[in-house]
Amino acid sequence: LAKVLFGAIPAPVSPVPLILIRIHSILLILLRSSMKIIVYSTKPYDREFLSAAAESTDHRLAFLETRLTSSTAMLAHGHDAVCAFVNDQLDSEVLEVLSQAGIKLIALRCAGFNNVDLPAAKDRGFTVVRVPQYSPHAVAEFAVALLLTLNRNVHRAYGRTRDGNFTLDGLLGFDLHGRTVGVVGTGKIGCEFAKIMHGFGCRLVGLDVHRNPTCEQIGMKYLELEEFLGCTDVISLHCPLTPQTHHLVDHHAVERMKPGVTIINTSRGAVVDTKAVIAGLKSGKIGRLGLDVYEEEGDVFFEDLSNRVISDDTLSRLLTFPNVLITSHQAFFTQEALTQIAETTIRNVSEFAATAQCQNTVT
Ligand code: NAD
Repeated sequence: LAKVLFGAIPAPVSPVPLILIRIHSILLILLRSSMKIIVYSTKPYDREFLSAAAESTDHRLAFLETRLTSSTAMLAHGHDAVCAFVNDQLDSEVLEVLSQAGIKLIALRCAGFNNVDLPAAKDRGFTVVRVPQYSPHAVAEFAVALLLTLNRNVHRAYGRTRDGNFTLDGLLGFDLHGRTVGVVGTGKIGCEFAKIMHGFGCRLVGLDVHRNPTCEQIGMKYLELEEFLGCTDVISLHCPLTPQTHHLVDHHAVERMKPGVTIINTSRGAVVDTKAVIAGLKSGKIGRLGLDVYEEEGDVFFEDLSNRVISDDTLSRLLTFPNVLITSHQAFFTQEALTQIAETTIRNVSEFAATAQCQNTVT
């Protein structure tokens, strides 16, 4: 209780939500009941942060390295909740197995929920909860890191100087100051990204189904798709993956972009049609591409395949371009974000255990 009162919970921006979260956590401790949670797709850092977050609860966590798929779902037998991550598969087949295994709660330890068949989950009576917000700075700052690295060829300079090559040929960049930066999805992360780009002296344009007043206050102009694509030097994607945003960046969109455009994707892989951007890179239409997410990342990202042949020819082709930088879904990976993800996940489970409801339920 003392930990909850005096420091285990990260401070949000304003003290009012902080007090509310602490009162909420105290109530959960008073009402506490324990849950057996099976945690899929875990790495050492997941164990560390989730175990720390669960220390003051009675929940029992079982960690599995394997992803949640139709062949691993039966391992959930004997548990109350499944804790899943971005590449775990929660389609109707898996949900059926989880339902038969007696699972009641699906606790996603991420913001996106595109990997869950929500109607199928609802039909089977699951509550699906997520972490709607955690350090938007982590992802926004990483998108800027990809942009700056690509723009100034830092990734190539790193290899060159270590090899004793101190030449500059081929490393020419451009000033970001004065360039037009387009933000697709101007929610929590897109807005933080826009603020950083504003600090660089960029012109800001936005593409979203809702306008964000904070973005407008720093000068962002909202445009329709065609105009947006035609005027942006840099496009950074921060929208969720939905049927409307699936392959938003396709052949048609690439054709309408400015020659030499830089595209950064830290949202979800399938927002980009990978074949279309490969064609754009080959023709020179796309000048630089930074991908932290990839539509077929499920079997590859978070794994060490350095001693194996990569069987995904599309990914292999992408990796050959000097002006493409791929990272494996790493944008969220900061101390602050992992702490907030773990604490919100455990709080979601505690809330469900105590009240059979949760404010972070995905509807
Ligand atoms: P958010 O809900 O705060 O913002 C999303 C924005 O996208 C909203 O403003 C929404 O109106 C907009 N949007 C929805 N449909 C759209 C459409 N058809 N066209 C244009 N805009 C549309 O979410 P957030 O916290 O900013 O996160 C954004 C996304 O970032 C998440 O959905 C997730 O996929 C991704 N993400 C990636 C990482 C990573 O590590 N790479 C980490 C966290 C989140």
